[in-house]
Amino acid sequence: MTIFDQIIRREIPADIVYEDEHLIAFRDIAPQAPVHVLFVPKTPVATLNDLKPSQAEVVGRLAVAAAAYAKRQGFADDGYRVVMNCNEHGGQTVFQIHLHLLAGAPLGRFGT
Ligand code: 5GP
Repeated sequence: MTIFDQIIRREIPADIVYEDEHLIAFRDIAPQAPVHVLFVPKTPVATLNDLKPSQAEVVGRLAVAAAAYAKRQGFADDGYRVVMNCNEHGGQTVFQIHLHLLAGAPLGRFGT
């Protein structure tokens, strides 16, 4: 059980911006950009390394939901960044896969 499971179960509060049968999206508690939303599948998968080929839709749905959110919020054309961290070198701290959506300002070229 991760903190994200607790958010899905409404055991701890979060600023939820979207939810459907497959995933939930809520604002990151420590935003790294003016918009920082986490898209989390309801299927438990600890890291991207654990994702089976048969589960490709689990991640695909996160990307589709993030783009739809960007369009609804009106910043899709300005642009945004999506990130998935994996394990220690990737900076992963919560071991339930999730996609970060960062937006709201020019973010610069990745890694610069
Ligand atoms: P990771 O480092 O695993 O890629 O991303 C985990 C993210 O979850 C971090 O950006 C962190 O700020 C966020 N986070 C950790 N705990 C909580 C929480 O209790 N609520 C919310 N909304 N975000 C959290």
